[in-house]
Amino acid sequence: MAVSEMLRIVILGPQGSGKGTQAELLSFHLGLPAFTMGGMLREEVTRNGSHASEIKPYLEAGTLVPHWISIELLRKRLRAPDVVRGFICDGFPRAVEQQEAIDAIAPPTHVVVLQLSDELAVERLTGRLVSACGEVYHVKWFPPKRPGICDSCGGKLEHRTDDTPQAIRERLSIYHHETEEVIRRYEAAGLVHYIDASGTVPVVHAAILEALGLRKT
Ligand code: AMP
Repeated sequence: MAVSEMLRIVILGPQGSGKGTQAELLSFHLGLPAFTMGGMLREEVTRNGSHASEIKPYLEAGTLVPHWISIELLRKRLRAPDVVRGFICDGFPRAVEQQEAIDAIAPPTHVVVLQLSDELAVERLTGRLVSACGEVYHVKWFPPKRPGICDSCGGKLEHRTDDTPQAIRERLSIYHHETEEVIRRYEAAGLVHYIDASGTVPVVHAAILEALGLRKT
């Protein structure tokens, strides 16, 4: 792939498939900005932004926030100068209405779909621990050195408020009903690269680079 080719990469997959982690690794590898819609929505709530009270109940229930809000955040993000050369977008579009919006503003050049069984997704999410600094751990597979404490910043580790069994079920159901329709449409357009997300982080990263024709240096 020519370096000058514009890359607008979208990463989709069920919750727990490692979208955020893989988006960050790709961002580092390609020198392109990565943004995550879930992260942007959480940040809007944390900083008590103008849509905070509208967003919060949806985040807690694990359902999609109204499309107009996520589309507005996307438009704002895509106006920033750092995305001029391309971007890696995690978790958007998750519904056909969102797909129509991003296709009209900045159509993806590649769609990476991380595949993971519901069973494994649930196991990963229920054991997930997050730190305020952004580090992510798993109680069984990637525990911190000291229980409950982040190795990086020393802060307290917590479960995400939407990593409850009920919210996880809700989020997976939305993925199967709404996001898979988006994937089918991108597949018909020849943009989709399916990746097995059950492996370790470096294995999945290498598979993504290979699928996109990008060699690891
Ligand atoms: P995530 O961090 O990707 O697991 O997303 C966390 C939550 O943010 C989801 O359960 C939704 O409530 C919300 N969210 C993330 N992406 C979107 C989106 N594209 N559209 C609407 N809501 C979203």
